[in-house]
Amino acid sequence: LFVSFEGIDGSGKSTQARMLRDHLAAEGHDCVLTREPGGSPGAEEIRALVLNGAPDRWSPETELLLFTAARRDHMERTVRPALAAGRIVICDRFADSTRMYQGLRGPGLRARVDALHELMIGDEPDLTVLVDIDAEVGLSRALERGGEGRFEAFGADMQARMREGFLALAQEFASRFAVIDGARAPEAVAADIRAAVVARIEA
Ligand code: C5P
Repeated sequence: LFVSFEGIDGSGKSTQARMLRDHLAAEGHDCVLTREPGGSPGAEEIRALVLNGAPDRWSPETELLLFTAARRDHMERTVRPALAAGRIVICDRFADSTRMYQGLRGPGLRARVDALHELMIGDEPDLTVLVDIDAEVGLSRALERGGEGRFEAFGADMQARMREGFLALAQEFASRFAVIDGARAPEAVAADIRAAVVARIEA
């Protein structure tokens, strides 16, 4: 089973991905928690190249190629071997983040994201959990936490566009998406996510 978590910065998806991993592991499932960009040694190097550089270091097209290279390495080295071994893979961000963050950066980029995905990746999660949160709430949570995110450069307008974009993606790929209201206590959010995972396992 391949489960991805998506959402804007500050949505709580990383916390929720960890909680799901802990819950499934406690139930005796063999789980791998991984993340993008990153998740394999090579892909983590690419993550640092993109996220630690100046925001305009790479053009949008080059950034898309770098993130696609990172995903390819992550799939080859981490995700596909784990799935082949029968493990549950929980991935904090996957291709839907690229459809949003790189795909919405300019006209025609989403089509290029999709074409590259088709050409170089192909895989889609069995279940994508979208942790949905108001853009302002997400931004203030992310600013409070700090860290290596790009939310400061993105700003509130971009966060709002991303949220709308993720909700539209959930409609576009309705069969694999579960949209979860993230504006509640972490335990309540986690319970809904567990229910979505159980439904998917039993489907
Ligand atoms: O989810 P995480 O906090 O690890 O993401 C790190 C930063 O990279 C975030 O600010 C996120 O918005 C950004 N990002 C991006 N393009 C992606 C994935 C993440 O710009 N495809």
